[in-house]
Amino acid sequence: MSMSQTDPVPAPEAVPEAPPAPVPAGKLLVVATPIGNLGDLSPRAAEALKTADVVICEDTRTSRFLLDRVGSRSAVASCHEHNEGEVAGRIADLVASGKTVALVTDAGTPAISDPGFRVTRECRKRGLTVSPIPGPCSAVVALSASGLPSDCFLFVGFLAPKTNARRAFLEKHRETEATVIILESCHRIDKFLDEIVEVLGPDRVICSARELTKLHESIHTGPAGEVRAKVMGGSVKGEFVVLIAKAGFVL
Ligand code: SAM
Repeated sequence: MSMSQTDPVPAPEAVPEAPPAPVPAGKLLVVATPIGNLGDLSPRAAEALKTADVVICEDTRTSRFLLDRVGSRSAVASCHEHNEGEVAGRIADLVASGKTVALVTDAGTPAISDPGFRVTRECRKRGLTVSPIPGPCSAVVALSASGLPSDCFLFVGFLAPKTNARRAFLEKHRETEATVIILESCHRIDKFLDEIVEVLGPDRVICSARELTKLHESIHTGPAGEVRAKVMGGSVKGEFVVLIAKAGFVL
């Protein structure tokens, strides 16, 4: 539209009051941390811990070491297996209010046999941004070096402590086509290897991965009877991942 000098100035139209600008939504960063070797903290993970408005930790004292190491001055709050249901909504509120929130656990990838699932679900339910900063995960680290088939795997976390339940689990998965990945503590590793030999037989190929990425890392792959003897012949201190190959697999 062109206007000449003689044209009357148009009356201003009533401008409706602008709605308040929406608060830019923040994001939840799911940050994997080392499972024993600090050299495995990725530059992206360090940056996320440094720049987040809030770092949600499984145990704030455990994560303090890592936060200090990267020079993070972010606020911290805790989210662990006993309070995750209660705090998940509040963490999502923070993200919705525009904050960048980094979620870490004591070691490894959050939400994998660790707190995190309820928080990510709550954020997803609300349509908030959830972005992973990937890094170590003991199950995948063990699988990658095991020599067992990795095209199909079943991660089951920790088994129930009761002997009957563990035997029933092994029976159920006797013919499973996938490599089965189980987390185990040093207190039960001897019993569990016994159970594998008894239920699946000494020739079933398994892998025991202990203290991954640490000084005393030891990984044994072979028939269950031999692996059991090797593991029990050394130190059984530390953390374990046990993998069971499908029936009939030969190393
Ligand atoms: N979210 C973690 C991850 O991504 O690895 C797993 C946490 S779960 C509470 C802890 C268990 O993971 C340990 O009991 C052990 O079975 C396994 N684990 C963790 N670090 C390990 C390591 N360095 N070597 C072997 N197993 C490990």
